[in-house]
Amino acid sequence: MNSRRSFLRLGAVGGAAAALVTPAAAAPVEPSLPPPRRDAPVVVSTWNHGLAANAAAWEALAAGGYALDAVERGVRVTEADPEVTSVGLGGWPDRDGHVTLDACVMTEAGDCGAVAFLQNVLHPVTVARMVMERTPHVMIVGEGAQQFAIEHGVPTQSLLTPAAERAWREWVASDAADTRAEINVENHDTIGMLALDADGRLCGACTTSGAAWKRHGRVGDSPLIGAGLYVDGEVGGATATGWGEAVVRACGCHLVVELMRQGHDPQEACRRAVERVIAKNPDYREIQVGFLALDVRGRAGSYCIQPGFDYALHDADGARLIDAPSRL
Ligand code: ASP
Repeated sequence: MNSRRSFLRLGAVGGAAAALVTPAAAAPVEPSLPPPRRDAPVVVSTWNHGLAANAAAWEALAAGGYALDAVERGVRVTEADPEVTSVGLGGWPDRDGHVTLDACVMTEAGDCGAVAFLQNVLHPVTVARMVMERTPHVMIVGEGAQQFAIEHGVPTQSLLTPAAERAWREWVASDAADTRAEINVENHDTIGMLALDADGRLCGACTTSGAAWKRHGRVGDSPLIGAGLYVDGEVGGATATGWGEAVVRACGCHLVVELMRQGHDPQEACRRAVERVIAKNPDYREIQVGFLALDVRGRAGSYCIQPGFDYALHDADGARLIDAPSRL
């Protein structure tokens, strides 16, 4: 489980394309934000399946592309990977055997779009972007989201792979299925991605099939702006993975960004947000919640409740697995 929960970084530290951009005139914050030196472009994503996703995002960033295009392109790789059992195609279904998807995007300008409880669409992140760009709304869910996707030319297909169906049938036949109202906490993992492009624009995307065996209709943190993803183009962005209900209760990613606004670096902001989650409910010490953050300087940080947590760092110098710098 821990290896799936890796946080990845792919970036060109001090890359040639780095641009010095003074943050737009903003209300002064206390304590003041760090100087606007930027290590950009940079992309980070949650866990080791993000390696391929980061590589796809990096292609867009290295070509001078927009961070939003990069994160969309990146997480689409994971959405289309049938081997990933917690995102898109091949995602493990809900307790009734339906694969239901949650996704959102957010830009440096504060624009955002989301879909939730969406079925039969390979790339929910793209539909989320369409909601942002083609409607006056932020979120569309369920049948309405599928209808919206179809109207905009998105093809439909079943996302339940034979392997996922087999896993579901085994679960149905198991003792665990007796507690049908419970989420199996071990079988979930979201991809969240944050990118800072060469022009200093920071965008994020988050996409998941949610917790395996969840109740039909359950929506977690991942498509909720402020919970599973939040971006402030003058401060930084954050995304979350793990037990969505805990993240929602703390408005987790908004909290991480606000902590960065107060002057904490991404790592410390993530740590404080995790502590807040636990302060709200000490039982959450036993569950999985992790935050990943990237600030507008290109500094990344992460923190996870689980002990024994490792993450991979992937940058222009190569990839390596490292221990999380701090844990609860
Ligand atoms: N946060 C997701 C959810 O609760 C699942 C995960 O990231 O593990 O739906």
